[in-house]
Amino acid sequence: MQSLFICGTMCSMVKTREIYYEDAYISEFDATVLECTRRDKGGFSVILDATAFFPEQGGQSSDIGVFRMEDGSQIPVSHTSIRDGVISHITDEGIEPGSAVHGIIDWEHRFSNMQQHTGEHIFSGIVNSRFGYDNVGFHLSDSEVTMDYSGPISDEDISRIELATNEAIWQNVAVRCEFPTDEELKDIDYRSKKELSGQIRIVTVEGYDVCACCAPHVLRTGEIGLLKVVGCQNYKGGVRVSILCGKRALDYLSGCQKLVSDLTGFFTTKSSKIMDAVTRQKDEIFELKGRLSESTDKLLKYEMEDLAASSEKDGVFLVRDHALEGNDMRKTANAITERFPGLSGVFAPAEGGGYRYILASGSAGLNAKDLQQRLFETFGAKGGGSPQMVQGSISCDNISEVIKWLEEAKV
Ligand SMILES: [Zn+2]
Repeated sequence: MQSLFICGTMCSMVKTREIYYEDAYISEFDATVLECTRRDKGGFSVILDATAFFPEQGGQSSDIGVFRMEDGSQIPVSHTSIRDGVISHITDEGIEPGSAVHGIIDWEHRFSNMQQHTGEHIFSGIVNSRFGYDNVGFHLSDSEVTMDYSGPISDEDISRIELATNEAIWQNVAVRCEFPTDEELKDIDYRSKKELSGQIRIVTVEGYDVCACCAPHVLRTGEIGLLKVVGCQNYKGGVRVSILCGKRALDYLSGCQKLVSDLTGFFTTKSSKIMDAVTRQKDEIFELKGRLSESTDKLLKYEMEDLAASSEKDGVFLVRDHALEGNDMRKTANAITERFPGLSGVFAPAEGGGYRYILASGSAGLNAKDLQQRLFETFGAKGGGSPQMVQGSISCDNISEVIKWLEEAKV
């Protein structure tokens, strides 16, 4: 099977003709299969004489799409990569060398990448001209677009650059991509993300940026539509900025708008009053938690006095019917050991099932760890602690069985 698809060898392959450099807007093309090899990782690697599929490179994810075959069937292309100028298309099905294919790029995906990438050029060009910082890291995937700049930028300045970038978009200026000669290149002052070799491609956003870049871009900045900064964090002495352009920006803002709309309904208030409502609710919760804690402490005190008065035992094991915060578990254990000299404990339901427990030693100074060890052996409990206090979890269907065992075991 494998040999059927191999023709020639990679090292003798001629470079693939890159249709995306002739015109970034070509989304369909005809080509001939030169080679098809089965990949160790699964699927096939298909090499054509020419392609409009842009391969993954320079921090940008690859084009995806389909090959339409002469019989009308379609073979999906899930990834595209380049090595020594030869472009490989990853498919699930093998294709006989010599076959004609009609390549169709997922245009929505490609155009989105062109919008994100050109938006990044304008933003980085403005950062470079205003602050002198370089874009030292670029990442463009289907879920995020990030740029790493070599120096710090304040939030206020990020907002100013965002506005200036959008103004450049609204001016709808031309974006030119060209391969200058070595002689011409000497006179061009351009940004570059890394040391480049081979023929340099220069992308110029008129009045905003001149940068060496290999990816497809839009022809005029107006096609970017909108650039929105959605994140900014300190990163390696500089700053990492996350942006979204075009439909991705619109989808993001629609999500934000929906959230605000839901919150105005939830709090029955205007959008401008949401933060007031959230702050008020937070303050109320804080106050209620304080009052609940006071009431719980009082209740615990009465409960302990009742228990101490009615019990002849030197220790008790309480089971709560609802989950307790770690602090409440400890408070309860401390309250018991203040009144009972022996070994005592408290159990409360755990979130994922079973129970959380604390076992504690009173004034008689018995070793809680010994009892815990026996709990491990008998019921498969887990946990740790000191001779005075141990805690952990136990998965059991019938907690009263455990309590009955504990009351007998500690004697
Ligand atoms: Zn670019």
